[in-house]
Amino acid sequence: MSELAIDREIDRSKMQVSDEVAIQITNMNKWYGSFHVLRDINLTVNKGERIVIAGPSGSGKSTMIRCINRLEEHQQGQIIVDGIELTSDLKNIDKVRSEVGMCFQHFNLFPHLTILENCTLAPIWVRKTPRKEAEETAMHFLEKVKIPEQADKYPGQLSGGQQQRVAIARSLCMKPKIMLFDEPTSALDPEMIKEVLDTMIELAEEGMTMLCVTHEMGFARQVANRVIFMDQGQIVEQNEPEEFFNNPKSERTKLFLSQIL
Ligand code: ADP
Ligand code: MG
Repeated sequence: MSELAIDREIDRSKMQVSDEVAIQITNMNKWYGSFHVLRDINLTVNKGERIVIAGPSGSGKSTMIRCINRLEEHQQGQIIVDGIELTSDLKNIDKVRSEVGMCFQHFNLFPHLTILENCTLAPIWVRKTPRKEAEETAMHFLEKVKIPEQADKYPGQLSGGQQQRVAIARSLCMKPKIMLFDEPTSALDPEMIKEVLDTMIELAEEGMTMLCVTHEMGFARQVANRVIFMDQGQIVEQNEPEEFFNNPKSERTKLFLSQIL
């Protein structure tokens, strides 16, 4: 766990939370076989929110955010993303996936494709965007994550931090309305964590709705508008960062914070 100081001014003025709902999860339950992994999850995320999800390993954080773009299926309750309910209807799943970008701990770039090709693959083949337009968009986002000069290289030629920024740029090329991050900095060396967090901060400053599973509590304090604490498949507590860190309510949250801070 680290509490990396974020040593730049953060422009919170653009991080407005709207009244509109981006994600609505109601009484959601999920089992892996007989193992009850998510219990009665209720969560409303408004557009523009930056939510950090914290909690011990095995508490169900990854499973919960993977349910939001149906990488995992829930068995009970309801998940509605941007007005679309996630059911077994494949059309709805496709629609939701095209609106929700996801970035994992391991970058999952295609090793045999260049950085540019990694970024244009889905827009060309899934969105049917003309190649030239897809390449222009890709370069725009590679500039945004500050590695346009790497466009013709292969993932293996880049550092971990650079690869993770490519993974973020690749997601952005699909113009998502919501970004999910699952421990995006956990596999990185400390000096690379900052460059990835900087990219995430910029996204937040542009008003992106974000759910981030992360152990970066400095990021949580400064960027999140809400911290959610999960334990044993439940949302145990949630609050704005200041209250969450300074005045945790439940014993489980207190114990967790005493271990990481
Ligand atoms: P976290 O991300 O908080 O560490 P996970 O969502 O990965 O937690 O896992 C929650 C629990 O579900 C853990 O006990 C884990 O072992 C279990 N689990 C995760 N994925 C599977 C799976 N595909 N099949 C069975 N159990 C799983
Ligand atoms: Mg996880």
